[in-house]
Amino acid sequence: MSDNHLPTAELQMLDAAHHMHPFTNGDELEKKGARIITKSSGVWLTDSEGEEILDAMAGLWCVNIGYGRDELADAAARQMKQLPFYNTFFQTSHVPAIMLAKKLAEIAPGDLNHVFFNGSGSDSNDTNLRMVRHYWEAKGEPERFNVISRWNGYHGSTMGGGSLGGMKGIHAQGGLPIPGIHHIDQPDWWSEGGDMTPEEFGIARAQLLEEKILELGPETVAAFIAEPVQGAGGVIVAPDSYWPEIQRIVKKYGILLIVDEVITGFGRTGNWFGCETLDIQPDIMTCAKGITSGYIPLGASLLSDEIASVINGDEFAHGYTYSGHPVACAVALENIRILEEEGIVDRVGSEIAPYLKEKWETLADHPLVGEAKIVGMMASVALTPNKETRAKFAASAGTVGYICRERCFKNNLIMRHVGDRMVISPPLTITKEEIDILIERARLSLDEAFEQIKAEGLYE
Ligand SMILES: *Cc1c(COP(=O)(O)O)cnc(C)c1O
Repeated sequence: MSDNHLPTAELQMLDAAHHMHPFTNGDELEKKGARIITKSSGVWLTDSEGEEILDAMAGLWCVNIGYGRDELADAAARQMKQLPFYNTFFQTSHVPAIMLAKKLAEIAPGDLNHVFFNGSGSDSNDTNLRMVRHYWEAKGEPERFNVISRWNGYHGSTMGGGSLGGMKGIHAQGGLPIPGIHHIDQPDWWSEGGDMTPEEFGIARAQLLEEKILELGPETVAAFIAEPVQGAGGVIVAPDSYWPEIQRIVKKYGILLIVDEVITGFGRTGNWFGCETLDIQPDIMTCAKGITSGYIPLGASLLSDEIASVINGDEFAHGYTYSGHPVACAVALENIRILEEEGIVDRVGSEIAPYLKEKWETLADHPLVGEAKIVGMMASVALTPNKETRAKFAASAGTVGYICRERCFKNNLIMRHVGDRMVISPPLTITKEEIDILIERARLSLDEAFEQIKAEGLYE
């Protein structure tokens, strides 16, 4: 018993009775009981039983500066006392929103100098969807209504975000995707590359964009949206040939490129934004998660000079009560100050990501592991019964991944499974010693999972 709270069993019972969890089978969870997290520091979580867990997922890909930074709590408290809320709708503004917009324009690449604030990643993408369509309406090309996205991309779970995303499980519920959204296949060489080399496959998958544009009619396409590296899809890193070809195609047809940096932003890939790491030139960038290191909800759409000048020509009938919430903006400013002044982004690029890469790639030797992929501080391994043929398990996708994830959980390591890929995205502030512990626990969990799946006849 670690702290001043009800016993774990009682908390679990109340949780099951009243709390509906996102992306969770409630009945299953009720039988098992949720693991209850009570406190945190650095890369470590403590649960209600006093167990210390290494959080290799940084919460949900978001706690970039690590847990327990009082500066963020203090920034929030100061702002709450001074001006806890004011809106930015009716020709009013406030200091935190102004200063954060200026700061984001400074750190963002290219001419992404304009910021529309939102509450989360999902509703930022809803903003972007309306924004690109309205942009073309305002330019006198209202027939540019279609937006192209990718299967197994993740852009949130609202009607817009969930439609833009390519998660079949989301589309299966509640009438998604909404009209005018079209998906092309992802650049996942490991599972879909067949006999092609990664480079050939990267080009082939990028050219699906051109095929889709031609199929829909170039004059009907508003934008293409993608993550620099697919996160929730399993940390899928496209072959090097992919992005230059995408860039060529969007330019050729004059369609807007929305890059969803909700995970890849704020240092995750070793630069401020994934676009810089992968040399992508977006017209719109989606930010959330790491913008506040997850300490408080905030999303932002960063827009090019061209888009802002067109949108500003009339009233964009869109916004959220909490667009530019002063407390969230104050926390984001403090978060960015820490990332900058403590050299955290530079340290990722020059020191800690190379160290993690060296260690992570050793996991490829494990009998259960096919490929090990990593970009900056986000990484994955593909589990397979046969490395040579890149085979899938006979059991339904995710069966083996779930077993491995459960082993990690038991070994006090939070690593997520996406189907039969295991993924990590630790706080950027993780130390080398903590990376060693992470790898040690990951290897132990893989060993145990390997024994278990062999014992259960799943290694085939
Ligand atoms: C998490 C995520 C979102 C959705 O953000 P929410 O804050 O959960 O709404 C959108 N895009 C990407 C790439 C994400 O990882």
